[in-house]
Amino acid sequence: MSGLTDLHLHSNRSDGAESPTHLVELTADAGVSTMALVDHDVLDGLDEARIAAEFHGIQFIPGIELSVDHNGTKMHMLVYFIENKPGPLEAKLAWLREGRNQRNSQIVKNLNDLGFEITIDDVLRWAAGESVGRPHIADALVEMGAVKSRDEAFDGLLQDGGLAYVERNRLTALEAITLARDSGGVPVIAHPKTISGGAVDYAALFAELVDAGLGGIEAHHASHSPELREHLTTVAHRLGIAATGGSDFHGNKNRDFRIGVGTGDLRVPETAVEELLAQRA
Ligand code: AMP
Ligand code: ZN
Ligand code: FE
Ligand code: FE
Repeated sequence: MSGLTDLHLHSNRSDGAESPTHLVELTADAGVSTMALVDHDVLDGLDEARIAAEFHGIQFIPGIELSVDHNGTKMHMLVYFIENKPGPLEAKLAWLREGRNQRNSQIVKNLNDLGFEITIDDVLRWAAGESVGRPHIADALVEMGAVKSRDEAFDGLLQDGGLAYVERNRLTALEAITLARDSGGVPVIAHPKTISGGAVDYAALFAELVDAGLGGIEAHHASHSPELREHLTTVAHRLGIAATGGSDFHGNKNRDFRIGVGTGDLRVPETAVEELLAQRA
């Protein structure tokens, strides 16, 4: 019996709320039969999630989500079929997480200057793994009563260009694609809607990245309209790469993205996985 497909889930190894095991339980309960875990900058949750997925009879695809830069434009990149073992991409992850730590301290300092009495220890209490980020700072601000939700903490304070925002180290998109391929992974551009707020010529941008080894586009993201999902699927297939998708679930308290269905209307085609597998060679 086949169920839903969800190739974009986060656990508490990065900024999701649930442990890998509990995340998989929730994913099974949601009627998902194929899932991918893609924590930010960390592979630590994959082995635990795979064991739980096997127990629940779920097809499991290991992955990771990276934040990259392409000629001054920021975007997220998913890499599928990457394992928690030494390799070219894995070798860069400690450096990325160290950049997060330095950036988090600077954001905390900015918040102090803005009058918020928050410390890095307040932030670290919300992080269960080694990949700590703005969502954990947001959690600490919620706990203090400074804001009501992660979303409210991002609005104005933590969002890109926000009052407390600080940049961090990133791979370029081309570096990430090469490292992914050299590691046996398939790189996919995540939620293209967030690239320059959607004001971008997707076909031209992706054509350039496909030449470098890009293997897919996350057409079916929870934040995309039906029209954008269809458009990005067309662009992906014209370029001969996979059209993938997922909910970007971070826990039921965070955002409105539910496992398997996003805000309700998400249906990732089963063919997404076949298309991804075809990009593996
Ligand atoms: P960081 O990885 O520390 O740069 O934080 C960025 C992450 O925060 C994103 O990958 C999302 O998971 C999350 N995020 C971004 N915007 C929001 C928002 N408005 N509300 C809650 N979480 C967000
Ligand atoms: Zn996240
Ligand atoms: Fe993302
Ligand atoms: Fe994500």
